[in-house]
Amino acid sequence: MTRIFRSPSTYVQGRNAIEAIGEHAPTDGSHAVVVADPVVRGIVGDSIRSGLEAAGLTVDAVAFDGVCTRAEIDRVAGVAEGTDLVVGAGGGRALDTAKAVGAGLDARVVTVPTIASTDAPTSSLSVVYTDGGEFEALRFHGVHPDLVLVDTAVIAAAPVRFFRSGIADAIATRVEAETAIEAGAENVFGGQPTRAARAIARECFRTVEAHGETALAAVERDAVTESVDAVVEAATLLSGIGFESGGLAAAHAVHDGLTRVEPTHDATHGEKVTVGTLTQLVLEGRDAEAVHDIVDLSLDLGLAVTLADIGLTDPTDEQLRTIAEAACEPQETIHNEPFDVTPDAVRDALVTADELARTRRAERERK
Ligand SMILES: [Zn+2]
Repeated sequence: MTRIFRSPSTYVQGRNAIEAIGEHAPTDGSHAVVVADPVVRGIVGDSIRSGLEAAGLTVDAVAFDGVCTRAEIDRVAGVAEGTDLVVGAGGGRALDTAKAVGAGLDARVVTVPTIASTDAPTSSLSVVYTDGGEFEALRFHGVHPDLVLVDTAVIAAAPVRFFRSGIADAIATRVEAETAIEAGAENVFGGQPTRAARAIARECFRTVEAHGETALAAVERDAVTESVDAVVEAATLLSGIGFESGGLAAAHAVHDGLTRVEPTHDATHGEKVTVGTLTQLVLEGRDAEAVHDIVDLSLDLGLAVTLADIGLTDPTDEQLRTIAEAACEPQETIHNEPFDVTPDAVRDALVTADELARTRRAERERK
């Protein structure tokens, strides 16, 4: 048995951390390219540029067009060719594009997340979408970002919906890693998980459970508190390492399936992941207490829990079949579950999880 653990080289998090980018970024080269959409560039572009210039680099910028597609990766790579350092700033899609470009050009990579909504800042893979916005493939780079730079003031000032999405993704980390570890499944690196990865996945969950509510209150007011700091680390570093070095299971496969039906396209990654997490618990036949624990935590934190919450108010049989079949494709991590999974079983778990979440919410509202 071989155990594999991998992670970014450096992780820096704090209020106004972006101002110190020149101190922490790899500046052995002479040129950097910043990949960010115009809105993000307006928020952090000047700080990134001046920090890197002060460290002796010349800096160019590429406007990211919003979706991480094969065409967008190729276009940005064309502009960035010959650069030493690719800095991605923004949400998961911008960071995934920057990582893919950096890996393709053999350049160093810095990720600067401006929202805490996904695991993209720390991971060594990119989620590639079709031009139509559906999940297409995971692209594995074999390298992690050289630096993950997280400015908690920027994250706290972003819309709270993204913060909630990161919490949702962090809850899934432990649920999936524990299943994958118990099943003896391989992690993203094709090795067995380490004890470190398991501990990180558990700490990730404990942190959002303990600090989620107080952190959300702070972010509603754009405030940075100790709880915000804790949840940002959980949603970014702990969740990122936990899923890659721990392992994924049904929840993210169901997420991938959900992206195949158009009405979910306005829901965030994390919102769809929660539906996947609840589906996984039902699929695994977890007892009522285990299911209610996650449903209640999700409801306490105001997360999306039902199909209607993610745009599927009245899913057709065809939509449910599309989701279930996509979740069971051969490359999907649903096959890390310790039993054979079929589309019928996924469909039934999906609608049952939806019903459980719906009735639990109604019950709580009556009290
Ligand atoms: Zn995720």
